[in-house]
Amino acid sequence: MEKYDVLIVGSGHGGAQTAIGLRKQGFHGSIGLLDRSRALPYERPPLSKEYLSGEKTFERILIRPEKFWRDRDVHLLGGSNVSSLDPLVKTISCGNGQEYAYEQLVWSAGGDAKRLICDGSDLRGVHTVRSKEDVDALIDDMKAGTERCTIIGGGYIGLEAAAVFRKLGHEVVLVEAFNRVLSRVTGPEVSRFIQNEHVSREVKIHLESGVRCIEGDGGLLTGVVLETGEVIQTDIVLVGIGIEPCIDALAKAGAETANGVVVDEYCQTTLPGVYAIGDCAAHINPFADGQRIRLESVQNANDMASVVASVICGNFEPYHATPWFWSDQYDLKIQTVGLSAGYDDSVTRGDPSNRSFSIVYLKNGKVVALDCVNSMKDYVQGRRLVETGLVAAREDLADTSRQLKELL
Ligand SMILES: Cc1cc2nc3c(=O)[nH]c(=O)nc-3n(C[C@H](O)[C@H](O)[C@H](O)COP(=O)(O)OP(=O)(O)OC[C@H]3O[C@@H](n4cnc5c(N)ncnc54)[C@H](O)[C@@H]3O)c2cc1C
Repeated sequence: MEKYDVLIVGSGHGGAQTAIGLRKQGFHGSIGLLDRSRALPYERPPLSKEYLSGEKTFERILIRPEKFWRDRDVHLLGGSNVSSLDPLVKTISCGNGQEYAYEQLVWSAGGDAKRLICDGSDLRGVHTVRSKEDVDALIDDMKAGTERCTIIGGGYIGLEAAAVFRKLGHEVVLVEAFNRVLSRVTGPEVSRFIQNEHVSREVKIHLESGVRCIEGDGGLLTGVVLETGEVIQTDIVLVGIGIEPCIDALAKAGAETANGVVVDEYCQTTLPGVYAIGDCAAHINPFADGQRIRLESVQNANDMASVVASVICGNFEPYHATPWFWSDQYDLKIQTVGLSAGYDDSVTRGDPSNRSFSIVYLKNGKVVALDCVNSMKDYVQGRRLVETGLVAAREDLADTSRQLKELL
């Protein structure tokens, strides 16, 4: 059985960055970077943006070229789906029968796209977007004369895909269960703005709409039936309703879980020698009032990877990264810093009708987050406001004649 000093499960953002960080910090031990996919480690954000639109090839979204891994003696172990783990003897088993032993294990397996649970959800033409393979299948279907696309879920992935589909000339209908898009991640003003941007580009949006089932004919989908009975005729369905963290093997091995794998500030799970990072890691976050949360962002995966690489190299620096996130839709760059959940007041900086503005979110008078739309300066300067928990007057925050950094 092959043994690695550090075995990393999942070669996405967190896993790849752990291997990079270890070598950067001078770690000389053996590293295995294992994934159920056979593809080289790649970036996920372009999957709903430039890769889906065809503007970037797969080579252009690789985290590093193949040679990089070879030169640093990082063993890529593709095509291995980890199904179980024995924390006592420190081994993992894969669906293909392969077993590996480890000294330290880093679990960075991300999440699987949630699927619709209704009749017809497995018909041909129903897609999710989590992996390259998912998007390749979607692009293949779109080549076959697709005109009408229906997106289920008005989160970032659904909205980014809507923007790409419109750019490619498809008709787009978007179905959202709540009364506004992006309800999970932003305030009503940004939701309204984004919704209007899509509507102005002829995306038809159904809010507060549940899906009853997907209709098909001969195994191929033909329409989406809403709870109201209304039928949306469509050629393709893209389901973007969130992820389920991939933690089965850890949970079965006895790791504590809570909507993810429970980790401490050093990303250590409750299993000895096993770390968890990225989308699947449920951690206590100082920017969420000390609540245990999961963050689904490249920044979080990369920052947690740096923490684990340091800890393995003997430097115990706790995770304390400022959360940030971005989304590209049409010519809009939306950047978020901090976490707005639980805010009790907000201030608009700039005029949304100019398509460049920011919303500053406050909690007990302190700045906790900013959503910045085409407003890079506010995003960059707002970070310090969030990090210091600045208390500022509403009129000062709203005054665009002053830069945010002047308020510090
Ligand atoms: C379409 C899309 C667009 C996004 N856009 C943005 C964006 O604009 N900005 C942003 O900050 N974030 C964005 N994200 C989120 C971001 O990509 C994730 O937060 C990030 O990839 C998390 O990194 P990770 O290492 O935790 O998981 P991942 O990058 O998902 O990597 C997990 C890896 O583990 C593998 N795996 C899972 N289970 C097993 C197993 N049992 N055995 C072996 N391998 C396994 C998977 O194949 C996968 O390669 C986007 C995500 C998607 C899907």
